[in-house]
Amino acid sequence: MANEDNLFKNVIAHAKEYGFVFPSSEIYDGLSAVYDYGQNGAELKNNIKEYWWKFMTLLHDNIVGIDAAIFMHPTTWKASGHVDAFNDPMVDNRDSKKRYRADQLIEGVIEKLEEKIEKEVEKAAKRFENFDRAMFVTTNARVVEYQKKIDDINARLKDAMGNGDMAAMKQLIDDLEIADPISGTKNWTDVRQFNLMFSTEIGSLADDANKIYLRPETAQGIFVNFLNVQKTGRMKIPFGIAQIGKAFRNEIVARQFIFRMREFEQMEMQFFVKPGEEMKWYEYWKDKRMKWHQTLGLGSENYRYHDHLNLAHYANAACDIQFNFPMGFRELEGIHSRTDFDLKAHEKHSGKKLQYFDTEDNQNYIPYVVETSVGLDRMFLSVLSKSYVEEKLEDGSERVVLRIPAPLAPHKVAILPLMKKDGLPEKAEAIMNDLKYDLRCFYEEKDAIGKRYRRQDAIGTPYCVTVDHQTLEDDTVTIRDRDTMKQERVKIAELKAKLVDACSINNLLRKI
Ligand code: ATP
Repeated sequence: MANEDNLFKNVIAHAKEYGFVFPSSEIYDGLSAVYDYGQNGAELKNNIKEYWWKFMTLLHDNIVGIDAAIFMHPTTWKASGHVDAFNDPMVDNRDSKKRYRADQLIEGVIEKLEEKIEKEVEKAAKRFENFDRAMFVTTNARVVEYQKKIDDINARLKDAMGNGDMAAMKQLIDDLEIADPISGTKNWTDVRQFNLMFSTEIGSLADDANKIYLRPETAQGIFVNFLNVQKTGRMKIPFGIAQIGKAFRNEIVARQFIFRMREFEQMEMQFFVKPGEEMKWYEYWKDKRMKWHQTLGLGSENYRYHDHLNLAHYANAACDIQFNFPMGFRELEGIHSRTDFDLKAHEKHSGKKLQYFDTEDNQNYIPYVVETSVGLDRMFLSVLSKSYVEEKLEDGSERVVLRIPAPLAPHKVAILPLMKKDGLPEKAEAIMNDLKYDLRCFYEEKDAIGKRYRRQDAIGTPYCVTVDHQTLEDDTVTIRDRDTMKQERVKIAELKAKLVDACSINNLLRKI
């Protein structure tokens, strides 16, 4: 059985072994922080997309979806601020030759202090019967001291990042005596800004005039199409535009599997509102998005909000929905109140009016925007890592099972003839032919039935339908449940309705 430290490694190995995620161009030893999705991974990814797309565009009649190009006019990125400000502060350790994000090194110190506070709280909670957490954290001398340290570091980090003051970042690293986890030394270079956008040339001439960028976020494709969609769709504010697509960032540190990739996919929605109403909608979307996540059933305790202290250049309020990944709580989704920053900037740089005429108030204005932005790959990792379970069974054997929520599972049902003779395969095929239009089925007749069940457990197939000799007599089959491993006998005539009901994304959406 894996301990917490090994769990992540095991999930990564499992993802590769069972056709979910492969390193990109692996025969050439891979490409750092770029991954390919295999036959099962692509299905899981598509199902996550469907869950998101339907939630946004079917359940909200004022949200429509688009699919904008990855390449955009380069001025887009000047206007959005990405050319000048889409930087991360990087620092190298001279001894290990490893590169780090300076802000993450500093945040690591804060995390350790927070853990220390939690330990004190846990200890005290065990000691006192009517333990009052709020009282304890404001009065216990040690906790107060840790908290003060956290507040000081946060204030300095916010200042340094806000002012782009890299010398102050370096000073903070020195003052906190941060050592490189690999070399153990404090032999750091200066902190430098590093722009995360990839660039390339368009057309046959490779010069600066032809330089374009691979989009670092999908949002700008929505902003530049705001009026196209509003006018052609006769949309009335408030309304939203949703999009799923690839984004590219030349991340400084990319060592966490598909959590931080250089090519990844985002599912973003920009919600255009009347100025002054943005906080109401910000709260609305915080709540809705949390419910969307929690409805998957991976455990509500694995999600939490995290308010941003260092607001991005475009935001007046922002928070993350964090998920309890194998390496701890990390950002899964961002919810940002982006004000009118983007549309205003595009108006200025393009010279075109990007305003909405509000017929109720008889006035023109640039709408404010509330954005929800979730990484598809991070969603994938959240589902995969929480679904992965190494189980000891009653008979002493072990199994690895992916408890993927049934509506997201790559295959919904495996059709398994008990034996490869006596007409059982033919009967199984007939059942599959009936089910395959409504459910993604997996057909297998090789190996003992127990072995086949294990293989389906390992790829997260929620149901196995076994066709045996009794099937030929009375048109019934057994359904085996992946999680309980219990089997029940059902009539073939009832099979489809039962499975479709249990595996339906629409049923999941109804619960939100
Ligand atoms: P982080 O702080 O982790 O770098 P971010 O705040 O820069 O993320 P946003 O710009 O808010 O991220 O992007 C929205 C979402 O896109 C994130 O919540 C995350 O799920 C996803 N995302 C961002 N960068 C990456 C990446 N390099 N690889 C995979 N997903 C990413």
